[in-house]
Amino acid sequence: MARQAYRVLVADEDASYLKAYRRLLARAIRMSPTYDDEPAPVLDIVSCRSVEEALGVLSDARDAAAPFQAALISARLLPRNDPTPAVKALAALDPHLILAVITDAEAPPDRRYDRAFLLRRPFDRAEVEGLGTALAAKWHAEAAQRRTRAELNALNKAFRMVNAELQRHLKLLRQREEELDHQNMLFTAALNNMRQGLCMFDQEARLIVCNAPYAAMYGLPEELTQEGTPLSAIIEHRARSGHSPREPNGPYEASVAGARAGKAASYRLPLVDGRTIQISHQPLPSGGWVATHEDVTESIAAEARIAHMARHDALTGLPNRTHLREKMEDALARVRRGESMATLCLDLDHFKAVNDTLGHPVGDALLCAVTERLIGCVRETDTVARLGGDEFAILQPGLDRPEQAGRLAHRLIDTLSKPYDLDGHQVVIGASIGIAFAPTDGVNADTLLKNADMALYRAKTDGRGTFRYFEPEMDARLQRRRALELDLRKALTQDEFELFYQALVDVQTEEVNGFEALLRWRHPTRGMIPPSDFVPLAEEIGLIVPLGEWVVRQACAEAARWPRPVKVAVNLSPAQFRSRTLVHTVVSALDTTGLAPQRLELEITESVLLQDNEATLATLHQLRGLGVRIAMDDFGTGYSSLSYLRSFPFDKIKIDRSFVSELAEKSDCMAIVRAVASLGASLGMVTTAEGVETVDQLRQVREQGCTEVQGYLFSQPRPASELADLLQHPRRMQRVA
Ligand code: C2E
Ligand code: MG
Ligand code: MG
Repeated sequence: MARQAYRVLVADEDASYLKAYRRLLARAIRMSPTYDDEPAPVLDIVSCRSVEEALGVLSDARDAAAPFQAALISARLLPRNDPTPAVKALAALDPHLILAVITDAEAPPDRRYDRAFLLRRPFDRAEVEGLGTALAAKWHAEAAQRRTRAELNALNKAFRMVNAELQRHLKLLRQREEELDHQNMLFTAALNNMRQGLCMFDQEARLIVCNAPYAAMYGLPEELTQEGTPLSAIIEHRARSGHSPREPNGPYEASVAGARAGKAASYRLPLVDGRTIQISHQPLPSGGWVATHEDVTESIAAEARIAHMARHDALTGLPNRTHLREKMEDALARVRRGESMATLCLDLDHFKAVNDTLGHPVGDALLCAVTERLIGCVRETDTVARLGGDEFAILQPGLDRPEQAGRLAHRLIDTLSKPYDLDGHQVVIGASIGIAFAPTDGVNADTLLKNADMALYRAKTDGRGTFRYFEPEMDARLQRRRALELDLRKALTQDEFELFYQALVDVQTEEVNGFEALLRWRHPTRGMIPPSDFVPLAEEIGLIVPLGEWVVRQACAEAARWPRPVKVAVNLSPAQFRSRTLVHTVVSALDTTGLAPQRLELEITESVLLQDNEATLATLHQLRGLGVRIAMDDFGTGYSSLSYLRSFPFDKIKIDRSFVSELAEKSDCMAIVRAVASLGASLGMVTTAEGVETVDQLRQVREQGCTEVQGYLFSQPRPASELADLLQHPRRMQRVA
């Protein structure tokens, strides 16, 4: 501990006494009692010569906060008659100042020095000891005061630190509380905004908490949503208000018991009010459980609707292929126990034409009308399904005899072929049916459908409006067709096609007017294949469009190289009109080959005019606008409607070969040829008789007024390589007869 300075002011007019004062003070300090471990102070003596000077020094010390502990004043400086005011003035400046008046020994003690010690010279031991004691006491008191102050300061500092720490803690606690409040708010909001009802029960099955959707779901009054509400009270309320499970003592009770025993459960619970609630129970680690309740009535209905949609046709409401298979599986299980079953595949004839000409809404209405008639024809145990487009299937289980299926097929074809009145349109269609039996033709759904389909294909190729039973031979035929299809797809890229040309001859001059290009397929193993064997297949698989393009380009290119500018006729398929690239193909073929458009003749059949009539006519007009000639081929084999001849100004009518070949035997053929020839004449069209094989036929068609002939009498179709020679040496174009 640092030693304190003991500041003493000595005031005497004679400075030589200063030493004596120092000794006096040192003696007094020595004689003073010691306190604690406080080290003895050092003396710091300041001297002055008068009371006034002493007052000035004391006043300065007070102002500088460096007070004196004691002041020794020589009595000589005090006024004799009344020293009290001077002593009082000194004491007033510092009430704690120890004041000692030093006087000579002879001088009597003066009461007027009351406030001060009186020390007589020579100094008395007791008086010096008194001064020392006073000095020590004051010094000790000051030291104690200093210590207390330091302790107080330390305490104060510690207190401030504790206080700051407390404040910090308090702040954290407040923050935590706010966070908890916020979380609580969020939790409550989340709880009440859940779609599901949520409730939590303790192990005594008393409510801990539940959310608003739970209360709303069962119409619980507020008092039943309070913490502590027994589950039994909630269940009773639900029973009273008609929200109890449809099946008493069912899964709900079992699952509550399970949850109490710590088992999770999830199940759908139908209620007496018609709703279905999805409930899930989850046990809590503390005992009790939490449960969610969700009203799934709507989603169950939606699921059922979706399930129905997935298994039914949207337009007719009939089972679709998926559902048909399920039904077939059921029926096949009975087939394995000895029953028989028939699968009928049905396809509408001419449906596409109705759809194309009258539009899809009428097509849809027709399918619905067909559905009604189909249902009217079958037994309740039979299934009618729509497989897509105009394809239907009928399942006839529990068959006693195979003829039953045939009778049904008859009935179906008869019923479906009766006219329909759709929105003011009279529509007539037909139906073709293929039948396969289980177990004879197959014992699984795939095979039966495939075989019935094959029989249907056969019914259609046999002329439609009829039905066929499946025969194993059909399968082999289909395989052959598949192989042909594969070869056909390859043929175009492998350059296996070729054009033959058949002469068109003027009836009067017997000169060649031009040639019809006729497609041939030089198959690598099967040799030359005629168009009747592959054009229908090419049409079916869509290959006719690129193939037809090739024909147009090839025919134009070859004709452009002929030595005489005669016409070249090219056959077009209805599919080429549907593809909408036809005009472009013709324009580009003419452009690239340089063939004059007037030399190109395009042959179409009536079936072209059967489809989307407006677009077809527009295409025909565009083609004719190019300068190309348009011929109506095979006239007389289709509807032979005169309205077709009116709908477009054809340049030529080609009378079908079937009329020419029977000219001799049938008089009506003659009449028809004559009628068409005169019609052609009056409309300014060329009339060509196809298939003229004999001189007689030539004479007859000439007599009936035909202007052009085509047939083996003049020429068979010839390869392109022979044509230049034929044209340069016309005499070789001799009749064969
Ligand atoms: P089409 O256009 O009526 O052609 C006439 C058919 O009658 C040709 O048969 C021809 O060889 C045959 N023919 C001509 N004169 C006689 C005759 O005096 N007696 C007999 N018995 N037949 C005769 P082909 O070449 O077999 O063609 C058959 C059909 O294939 C054609 O009938 C045509 O509709 C179609 N076709 C041919 N080439 C093409 C083509 O490039 N594109 C399209 N889309 N169809 C084609
Ligand atoms: Mg033709
Ligand atoms: Mg023809």
